[in-house]
Amino acid sequence: MKAITVSPATRSISLQNVAEPALRLEPGHVRVRILDVGVCGTDREICCFDYGQPPTGSEHLVIGHESLGEILEIAPDVTRVKVGDLVVPTVRRPCPHDECTACGSSRQDFCYTGDFVERGIKQAHGYMTEIIVDHERYMNVVPKKLRDVGVLVEPLTIAEKALEQIWQVQQRLPWACPVLSDRSDRSGRNNGSCHRAVVLGAGPVGLLGAMALATAGFDTFVYSREHHGSAKARLVECFGGHYISASDTAVKDLPRAVGSIDVVYEAAGASGVAFDAMSVLGTNGIFVFTGVPGRKGPIPVDTDILMRNLVLKNQVVFGTVNAGRSCFESAVRDLGTFTERWPDAVHSLISSRRAVEDYRAPLLDRPEGIKNVLAFG
Ligand code: BGC
Repeated sequence: MKAITVSPATRSISLQNVAEPALRLEPGHVRVRILDVGVCGTDREICCFDYGQPPTGSEHLVIGHESLGEILEIAPDVTRVKVGDLVVPTVRRPCPHDECTACGSSRQDFCYTGDFVERGIKQAHGYMTEIIVDHERYMNVVPKKLRDVGVLVEPLTIAEKALEQIWQVQQRLPWACPVLSDRSDRSGRNNGSCHRAVVLGAGPVGLLGAMALATAGFDTFVYSREHHGSAKARLVECFGGHYISASDTAVKDLPRAVGSIDVVYEAAGASGVAFDAMSVLGTNGIFVFTGVPGRKGPIPVDTDILMRNLVLKNQVVFGTVNAGRSCFESAVRDLGTFTERWPDAVHSLISSRRAVEDYRAPLLDRPEGIKNVLAFG
């Protein structure tokens, strides 16, 4: 079967024929036909040989971790999924160490030891192939009506994990917003309608994060490089967000455009902009990093301002990576909500869907559009 592989030793990227997984399924396991795989910054870094590691004993790594598949076959004892279900598998698998309480509690997204593996990234083959086999516990069922956009679930889980932690951390203070009686759609859900959130970056993680924040009621502002009137700016307006262009507003002027900033959701991976934005975070504000910057060398940062604000304004800063089961469930639910409310905006997040043979452009050329997808099924 076809697979897109990266060999760090020979610095090569190719579409190869690899062996299909064994025919006999182990207990608890399922066979999945891959339909779509999204390309993200991590895949592009792996293709530059800056990141990623093949499984022990293998020369190459099958890449790809943002996927949507269909269950082809299940072992007799499987109960969580059935043949024909659409599924998105999680990415990270636990480390083998008994003392890792995170992995021991199925929260490998918080693994302490660093010895986790990640499918398509670190020491485990990924999803840019035709068939995979894995344990049912890593499968997340996606409703059939999300077939076209289900590949966005995994990047959305990054935002869901950030939001889950924002709600938990902000329980340190009176943060809940009054529930308005005419907003019945928010009943039972966290309500951010009295808070302002700034999203840094208008890539897939930024835009999906902005949609999640808007859905939770936050007054949401997306700050990015593109001009007003650009496709991304229009997309933000489609879901009720406000777009602020870095070409006409400096980071230091964000509070003038936004008001007091309660949340900064960083999804640009640019440390200079991020630390400038941290210095304009409001009182009791929370700042979450999701981007991983390249190493471009030191930059000047006014650490006195940052430290004074952290203390005198009761601020919190945290980073987040990967996601656990509950975040996949929230992502499936929220993607359904986004598609009901803003179908065109959600569909326009997927800029291209190409045949697997056409893998080189999205993985190796200058990134174009928002989310590029390779179709296997
Ligand atoms: C993936 C995460 C992964 C991280 C670091 C991201 O692109 O979405 O699942 O943990 O890369 O490897």
